[in-house]
Amino acid sequence: MRYLLLSDVHSNLEALYTCLELAAGRYDKAICFGDLVGYGPNPNEVIDKIRNLCTVVIRGNHDKACCGIDDAKEFNPYARMATEWTRQALTPRNLEYLRALPMGPAVMEGFIFVHGSPNNEDEYILGPAQALPLLRGPETQIVCFGHTHLQGGFTLSSEGRFQSIRIPATPDGLTLTVPIEDGDRYLINPGSIGQPRDHDWRAGFAILDLDQKAVEYYRTPYNVAQTQAKMEKAQLPLPLYRRLELGR
Ligand code: ZN
Repeated sequence: MRYLLLSDVHSNLEALYTCLELAAGRYDKAICFGDLVGYGPNPNEVIDKIRNLCTVVIRGNHDKACCGIDDAKEFNPYARMATEWTRQALTPRNLEYLRALPMGPAVMEGFIFVHGSPNNEDEYILGPAQALPLLRGPETQIVCFGHTHLQGGFTLSSEGRFQSIRIPATPDGLTLTVPIEDGDRYLINPGSIGQPRDHDWRAGFAILDLDQKAVEYYRTPYNVAQTQAKMEKAQLPLPLYRRLELGR
């Protein structure tokens, strides 16, 4: 089975559709680990697409804030403004959909996925301080996560060697294939579809191929100008659409 791993779409329809075009025919099931909405201009369209496409979807912190399960107290003022805008823009049906989204972890065949971390859906796995205890802990061999908007992740070999998965600055499309070795442990971040923050503005996703035992990382340019124009028209905060072209 090949799983399309989607995370942190953030209401960015252009980025989502471009990723789905590139991924077409390369996967069997799609899953999404949260933050469907927040920041971007197309929350309803993104939810409609994700709910039809994905076998399993779990919630992210922005999904919780936008549907009112959580206040946006921890958010910066721009993110809070976008949360308010999204709440107003959502149809009653989609508000209900977000409210009903389950919290992670979700268990699939041979791996689990979470928004933030297996211990806490809102926690960021940023480096060895968070990653090593998880890789040494009792979790499954493969844990997929999002939330940081940084494509890559971490591995621990059976000999105890810890490594960050670094995505090379390669041309568009498939950028890196990481083999899954028996006995090694993996924390896999597919990157963000709708608002990458790893200084590469291109939309990111990954495919976990359990038959070939490999993770494939992808990056693709999309029509960012169109997303930005929609955000400007919707009067979403300027820094939120400027950051899209910077990948920050
Ligand atoms: Zn996010």
